Formats: sequence, C-alpha cells, structure tokens
Amino acid sequence: MNIYMDYQATTPCDKRVVEEMLPYFTEKFGNPHSGHGMGLEANGAVDVARKKIADLIKANDLREIIFTSGATESNNLAIKGAVHYYKSDRKKVITSTIEHKCVLETCRSLQSEGYQVVFAPVLGNGIVDMDFLKKEIDDNTILVSIMSVNNEIGTIQPIKEISKLCREHGILFHTDAAQAVGKVEVDAGDVDLMSISGHKIYGPKGVGALYVRIKPRIRLTPLFSGGGQERGIRSGTLPVPLCVGLGKACEIAKNEMVQESRRLTEMKNYFIDKILSRLEKVYLNGDRERRIPGCLNFSFEGVEGESIMLGMPEVCVSSGSACTSASLEPSYVLKAISIREDLAHCSLRIGLGRFTTFDEVEYVSDKIIETVTRLRSMSPLW
Ligand SMILES: *Cc1c(COP(=O)(O)O)cnc(C)c1O
Repeated sequence: MNIYMDYQATTPCDKRVVEEMLPYFTEKFGNPHSGHGMGLEANGAVDVARKKIADLIKANDLREIIFTSGATESNNLAIKGAVHYYKSDRKKVITSTIEHKCVLETCRSLQSEGYQVVFAPVLGNGIVDMDFLKKEIDDNTILVSIMSVNNEIGTIQPIKEISKLCREHGILFHTDAAQAVGKVEVDAGDVDLMSISGHKIYGPKGVGALYVRIKPRIRLTPLFSGGGQERGIRSGTLPVPLCVGLGKACEIAKNEMVQESRRLTEMKNYFIDKILSRLEKVYLNGDRERRIPGCLNFSFEGVEGESIMLGMPEVCVSSGSACTSASLEPSYVLKAISIREDLAHCSLRIGLGRFTTFDEVEYVSDKIIETVTRLRSMSPLW
C-alpha cells in the first residue's frame, strides 16, 4: 500500500488528461510544423492547448505561450535568455534565497559569467523581504526573478507588489509559477515572464511553458539553435500529445480550482490542528495564512524527518526537499527562514492534492503522531 502525500514533488496525470492526449500519439501524429492536412490538425490542437493555458494565467494572446520541456527549462530560458539579450544596458539580477534549485543554479552560472546576482533574503514566515528588494532594485538591474509559491513551505509571495516595484523602475519581472498555477489565482498581467510545469498540475511530465509578454515585447536569446519554432524562442518539434495534455490540465484546473482549494483548505486546517494539539514541540514552517493549502511543512523537535519517514514506509512524504534529501545538509529553504539548525533536520513536507481523501488525512496524521511519539520515547535526548 502507498499513500501519496507528496504533491509538490509531482502529481499523477489526471485520467481526463491522458484520454485527451491519446489520439495524438497514434492517429493524429502529424508534425505541427508541416503544411499539409495532418500538420494543420496537429497545429490546431496545439493552439487549442495554448488557449487553455493562456486562459488559466490570464494571458491575452496565444503567441505569448511558448512550450518547453518543463519549468526547469522555462526558468533557464527566461533568466539566461533575458539577461543575455538585454546585457548591454545593465548587469544585475535579483532573485531570492528560497528559489527552486534550477533558478539558483541558473543565477550562479550567470555570476560565473560576470553578472552581479543578489539573493534577497526572506523573513521568518517565508515571505521575501520587501524592504531589501526596494533597496536593491536600481537602474543597473536587468531582471527580478521571484517564485510565486515556494515548493517546500508553500508560502505565497507578494507578486503584485513586486510587479509594481519592477514597473516603476522599468525592470523585467520573471516568476517561477510551477507551484502556483492551478492552485491560486495567477495573473500574467503582473509579470513579463512566467514559468509553468505540466507534472505539478496533473499534466504529463516532460512539458511546461513559458509565458513571454508581447505588449511590450520581451525578447529572449534562445537556449537552442534550430528551426526557429515558437517565435524563434524555442526551436524543436513540439511534442503534440504533451502540449495537448498540458492544455487539458490547465482547463481542468481553471474549472475546479475554487472547489478544490476549499476542500484542501478544510483538510489542511484539520491536519494542522490535529498535529499541533496532539504533539508538543511541533512547529509549522512558513506563514500559516499566506500559503497554498496543499503544502504543509512541520518540524518535530527531537526526531529527524528521515526517521519519521522510515517509521511509516507506506506514506509518501518528503523530508527536506526531494532534490536535497539525498544529502545530509538541511534544506536551504528552512535555513533561509532562520529556524533552529536542529529543527531543520526534523522537518517533514506533506503535500495534499486532487486525489487526497479525508480518510488518508486521518490515517497519515495518526501515523505521524504515533511514529513521532514512539521515536521520542526511545530517544535519550528527549
Ligand atoms: C518542480 C518545480 C520546478 C521544476 O519543474 P520541472 O517541470 O520538473 O522541470 C521548478 N520550480 C518549482 C517551484 C518547482 O516546484
């Protein structure tokens, strides 16, 4: 038996998404860039998908949606692409200390090319320090890249406020919205560039999108040389079934977001209240209110996250983030919100999602309480 509560790592593909994709593997297999009937059929399907993505993020124009292989590529393309295109004028990039690894590493690679990168700190609640941002944003800044929702602690960043700051200074604004799209309202009108991932929103793995504003037109130096597809921004034959799947995932998310969010909020509140009332010395990491309902992150004093996971092998949760849990280093996100070093090793991320049932919430919360209590009773330090 497996109980899946790791929806920030990935999500299952919704069966309705798979259904929609299937014909594009077999009968409708045309190359969307071919001029004949089958090419046009495939291209039409890709544009329908583009429209569904645009509708979910409130983009005005289909051409603003560029398909990629996922949010990792979208983030690389947005940040490197913009910086390399606009480098003659300015030299500085601002991001935050709690971005996804792919943004942090992209920025580090720019540093080694000689650009100045500023990593803005976050406050104890996991929200970016706006006073710091205000001080750092200047006429030498090319781009600000701040994620919409954090993947470890679920906190929602003040995107509208940051957008206003950037606009006042004529600075490009990119947001990694992989954890936000389909879960909270996002508005492409607030940003110049926005990254999306298929497999975080019940779509297929291996596809994502980058929103690239057209009015005013944002230019990017492409990562790949090739046939000039996707307005010359991203060459390569489009994976039509994956594009169709991402579109369908966005359509479902748009239709069901309000209801789903209400259901998840109920489960989240029940989960938090139960854990905090039944165990002592447990801390919820990240702001309690300004977070997406599907992401919980607790520190259980005196017990390592890894040990809790080993104690309930049928429950799929994460200690630290999936990318770093192979190492013994505590999560850099938890370090960034300045929780005690020992507590950073004692954390568990629990992700609730579309297919989580109330019974599973009951089972997993009981299991955690039982496991933590047992481990603490065996610990000489406790
Ligand atoms: C998962 C994730 C990514 C990477 O997305 P892929 O589509 O797997 O490349 C980037 N940023 C955030 C916030 C994520 O959660």
